Amino acid sequence: MFNIRKWFSTSKTPQSEPIPGSTQVPNSAGGYSFEVNDWMRLDRFLILGTEGGSYYATEQKLTRESAEAVLRCIQADGSRAVACIARISKEGRAAKNDPAIFALAMAAKLGDEATRKAAGQALPEVCRTGTHLMHFAEFAEGFGGWGRGLRGAVGRWYNDKPASELAYQLVKYQSRDGWSNRDLLRLSHPKAKTPDHQALFAWATRGSLPAEVPSALAIVEAVERAKKATTVNEIVALIRTHDLPRECVPTQLLTHAPVWEALLERMPFTALIRNLATMTRVGLLAPMAPATAEVVRRLEDEAGLIKARVHPVQVLAALMTYKSGKGVRGNGSWSPVAAVVDALDAAFYKAFRAVEPSNTKTLLALDVSGSMSGGTVAGVPGLTPRVASSAMALVTAATEKQHGFVAFTNGLTELDISPRQRLDDICARTAAMPFGGTDCALPMLWAKERKLEVETFIVYTDSETWAGKIHPVQALADYRRESGLPAKLIVVGMTANKFSIADPKDAGMLDVVGFDTASPALIADFSRLRPSPRRKEQKGHPYRGEV
Ligand code: CA
Repeated sequence: MFNIRKWFSTSKTPQSEPIPGSTQVPNSAGGYSFEVNDWMRLDRFLILGTEGGSYYATEQKLTRESAEAVLRCIQADGSRAVACIARISKEGRAAKNDPAIFALAMAAKLGDEATRKAAGQALPEVCRTGTHLMHFAEFAEGFGGWGRGLRGAVGRWYNDKPASELAYQLVKYQSRDGWSNRDLLRLSHPKAKTPDHQALFAWATRGSLPAEVPSALAIVEAVERAKKATTVNEIVALIRTHDLPRECVPTQLLTHAPVWEALLERMPFTALIRNLATMTRVGLLAPMAPATAEVVRRLEDEAGLIKARVHPVQVLAALMTYKSGKGVRGNGSWSPVAAVVDALDAAFYKAFRAVEPSNTKTLLALDVSGSMSGGTVAGVPGLTPRVASSAMALVTAATEKQHGFVAFTNGLTELDISPRQRLDDICARTAAMPFGGTDCALPMLWAKERKLEVETFIVYTDSETWAGKIHPVQALADYRRESGLPAKLIVVGMTANKFSIADPKDAGMLDVVGFDTASPALIADFSRLRPSPRRKEQKGHPYRGEV
């Protein structure tokens, strides 16, 4: 018999060819993957960002492609796009807010009238600080300058804040990226809502204070005095009385421990995490010091971390830098305090939302191929997709008791890693593993060969799969058939590209975004789902895909 099946099969296709009849497209690695829709691309862009590019695409190319997908979302359903941007930003699901600000500026300039209006209304939700607002101004200018709607929205940003809150924003964020409050106030020209606002606008645009300073402007007056302060005692008194942030302290006074001690008392979470090295270098943080106990206490405060929108990537970046004892840009060195390192490690897990375990048998599979070592996640130095994926997988490992860990190099390697080990040690180990070709089908083939019961396969990858003799979805269908289990496949996308190994037509497969703080909960919820009874009665397997 002429072996037709050898040349044409829908159940076994090499990854270098598309599955016949499927919607697969060529990926950047010479293989074929599925394409995620523009809404998933919007999520990936907002959460992972494109800073640092990827292995296959430069930052410029990845940004341009992502921006085109964002624009298509804005054109297809502007109000949905704005709601999505606002939600991800507000809930602190992304490591950096810049992609959300960029996308909002795009909606505010390039959307239809209703979309532009919605974007203007979402401005204070997405741009919560003066820095955010200045970034927005910079992006909006790139999309073609200022219209009346945009000027109105920026004016309301200043006017709608209570005077004391606005005063804090004005002193803390005076200028960024070539934009200042003066520029924005002159451009938007809001009519002051109250005499206090009037006085604040006058200070921001002309530097003048009224003869009699109203109480809402006390912090502004303190900032003027801080500029002239020369002694530690003077600045410490001003910090304690007026809650002055670090930005208002003259640089030459920032080398003294008592100054940082005073700042620490009411230091916002993000500043706390960013300044651990400095506080150690000036001697404030030391083994058994009271300030160390205070920092540890705050890092252990789960509710506080969530409320301050501290993102796990920020914690991980701080951990990697702090533990190393030297600055990324070569500025100075310090002796890391072990208690702080441990507290950062614990804070990483706490910064994700609380997850209810699904109690399913879960195989966590890390793509550690060469391409996963290119580019960065959210622009964090040293945080490649491969390092990031091991950290991300540990969050699920910490939740699900019945889990296994594998990495696909050349063949599959079992990993004996656990959330009890320190995150930075595991990251260093993952970074040092040998590279292999990318074959995302291996976890399913491996489980089938060993007759392992797996209910959920989770693959952390860029979906640039090309090396295998069979596509991942085919290997999954095969595994389901052999094991009789309705096994699911969850793809954790670690790059803001458009590919996925998951078939969008298969209800048993899900795409989530790596380092979305909501992802571990989404993963658990999806793993918990049982096939509906009606589907069970159908011939074959309830989760059998179309292909
Ligand atoms: Ca690869």
